[in-house]
Amino acid sequence: MNKMGNIEKQELLNDIKKRMSLDDSLPLRKGATNLVFGVGNSDAEILFIGEGPGYWEDMKAEPFVGNAGKFLDSLLSLIKISRKEVYITNVVHHRPPENRDPLPSEIQAYGRYLDEIIKVIDPKIIVTLGRFSMAKFLPNAKISSVHGRKFVVEWNNKYLTVVPMYHPAAGLRSEDVKQKIISDFKKLPAILEEVRNEPEVKKNEKGVKIKQMSLI
Ligand code: URA
Repeated sequence: MNKMGNIEKQELLNDIKKRMSLDDSLPLRKGATNLVFGVGNSDAEILFIGEGPGYWEDMKAEPFVGNAGKFLDSLLSLIKISRKEVYITNVVHHRPPENRDPLPSEIQAYGRYLDEIIKVIDPKIIVTLGRFSMAKFLPNAKISSVHGRKFVVEWNNKYLTVVPMYHPAAGLRSEDVKQKIISDFKKLPAILEEVRNEPEVKKNEKGVKIKQMSLI
């Protein structure tokens, strides 16, 4: 199978965004100003998934542009990765009222679109920011014991590499958590290099695991 290129992926993402913007069943859309779909490189190796838009994200229709976003940018520059190289999105794409936690039913409603986004980008690593995105892939994990570690999870017949991390906003509230996030981010380049060198594992139609080296 041919590997999809940037432009093709961008077109597919545009299509998902268009369908989301027309989807009246999305539970948080009434209270939100904008759909906050995602931003970055449609062919990114690293996909960051946060929780949900806050005030500034809702205003600007872009994820992580407030204080937590500034911290995320500084973490990325620490490891010499630019925001343009990665892709950033959330588990819900409309701002929850008063920035409350997203409800399980809301996460589920937006989740089918998030799954499509993951499939299109097909990243080498998913970095979950905070407990809500972590719980999508590692439902029973505790962030304090798993942060910064690499997990391989089966997801829609593919194996995804997931690295859970604390939410940047938590790092702004606690110096201890901030240091943990910094140290976890510093591990990312080595984890990415490791994953680049691993054969891709998929399941065929009979459910048998198959390994493929990615052709760069
Ligand atoms: N926090 C999130 O989880 N996502 C954003 O987009 C902004 C803040």
